Amino acid sequence: MKNVAKKLTAREYEINFAELHPAFTPNAAVVEANRCLYCYDSPCTQACPTHIDIPTFIKKISTGNLKGSAKTILESNWIALTCAKACPVKVLCEGACVYNEKGEEPIRIGRLQRHAMDWFYDHKTPPLFAPAPRNGKSVGIIGAGPAGLACAAELALLGYEVTIYEAKNKAGGLDTWGIAPYKMMQKDSMKEVKFIKSLGVKIKTNTRVGKDVALKQLERKHVAIFIGAGLGRPTSLHIPGEKLKGVVDALDFIERVTPRQWHRVDVGKRVAVIGAGNTAIDAATEAKRLGAEEVYLIYRRSEKEMPAYDFEFELAKSDGIQFYFQTAPKRILGKTVVEGIECIKMRLGKPDAEGRRRPEPIPRSEFRLAVDMVIKSVGQNIEETFLAKIPNLETNDGMVVVKSESYQTTNSKYFAGGDCINGGKEVVNAAHDGKAAAQGMDQFFNEQ
Ligand SMILES: Cc1cc2nc3c(=O)[nH]c(=O)nc-3n(C[C@H](O)[C@H](O)[C@H](O)COP(=O)(O)OP(=O)(O)OC[C@H]3O[C@@H](n4cnc5c(N)ncnc54)[C@H](O)[C@@H]3O)c2cc1C
Repeated sequence: MKNVAKKLTAREYEINFAELHPAFTPNAAVVEANRCLYCYDSPCTQACPTHIDIPTFIKKISTGNLKGSAKTILESNWIALTCAKACPVKVLCEGACVYNEKGEEPIRIGRLQRHAMDWFYDHKTPPLFAPAPRNGKSVGIIGAGPAGLACAAELALLGYEVTIYEAKNKAGGLDTWGIAPYKMMQKDSMKEVKFIKSLGVKIKTNTRVGKDVALKQLERKHVAIFIGAGLGRPTSLHIPGEKLKGVVDALDFIERVTPRQWHRVDVGKRVAVIGAGNTAIDAATEAKRLGAEEVYLIYRRSEKEMPAYDFEFELAKSDGIQFYFQTAPKRILGKTVVEGIECIKMRLGKPDAEGRRRPEPIPRSEFRLAVDMVIKSVGQNIEETFLAKIPNLETNDGMVVVKSESYQTTNSKYFAGGDCINGGKEVVNAAHDGKAAAQGMDQFFNEQ
């Protein structure tokens, strides 16, 4: 990189990456829990994709029954600690809280869930769940992200032998490698992995299916296979200069930040982030918190169309990220390393097939920004090469097609869930899919 941002002190890094939503004290948790109205139709529970019985777990916190509270949560969601810290609660459970209608602060459901889950992981409790006796059936799972882990936990409880094959050296998927360090830490994700292993699940890390182990081997060994492989490589920008030193994929950059070895991550003095989804916002705020002096976020549509959540946008603005809306990158400048980026202004034309107004370049509106680093974040492709090896597996726009109730694919031996079926949503959706697929699989075998 031409100009690397000055390294910060250890204390400065810790301040910059401190938790956005710190834990409640025990007293504050009880006070907050006592605000819950225990609504008869619990809109919060309905808004949660895993349908946690929220009023009940909150009631248990108010009476000091944290073990019972954690059990209520885990009965619906095996990935509950990550979800407590990283879920977009404002658009899910807390967004549905009736207090919003009264113009009052909603119950802090995410932080209360965290309170119960922190207690559970910090205390050695007798096992909360007793797996059913082994039924002699073995299931293979591709990917140890939240979808794969949730599926594995549920299957273990139902009496199946479960082996997860995970390409990376640590399990957890994006919970371990993707979620911003000011929301949760890698060690939180590892606590969930350890807990799921304690149910009898085996995890083979450093094992990429299709490379280190063949699909055929899995098919011979297991009665069913769950695909929880998430998304594949990031999409390319298709502009000149993408190969220059200093151009990085958002996920590669974020992966280097999550282990909290801040001083080891070089960041440019001036950084351009291309894209405006939640991942782009994470990359931009993480670059700023690592010490970048200027961070520009470049997006070809307007603020109204940006895919990132409002609260993520607000966070980026408060971090001092500068937004270039209706702007597209044209080429990245430099001989061997990034020295700048040439952009062009866009106007919004006629709506496309999805009803979104198509951005069109405004002739002769090019301008340049001097930057030392370009972070690409314009989406991820689905891993089609790997999926193509599965016979009769139907995909739609790269996403695996599943039946809505059972999560069974068009190849009856395979089930699937998480990002690889929805194109990239949230952890809580993956947690729901994994559990539902395990139940779908069990029903499939019981009906045979
Ligand atoms: C940068 C970023 C930040 C995010 N932040 C949030 C957030 O704050 N809150 C939130 O709720 N959601 C967030 N998300 C979304 C969330 O992380 C995903 O929706 C969720 O992790 C999807 O789970 P999954 O199990 O389907 O896939 P993943 O988490 O991607 O896990 C898939 C796993 O499969 C493994 N794998 C892939 N191919 C193979 C193979 N051939 N063999 C073996 N293993 C394989 C991968 O290594 C990976 O571990 C974020 C996503 C990104 C990219």
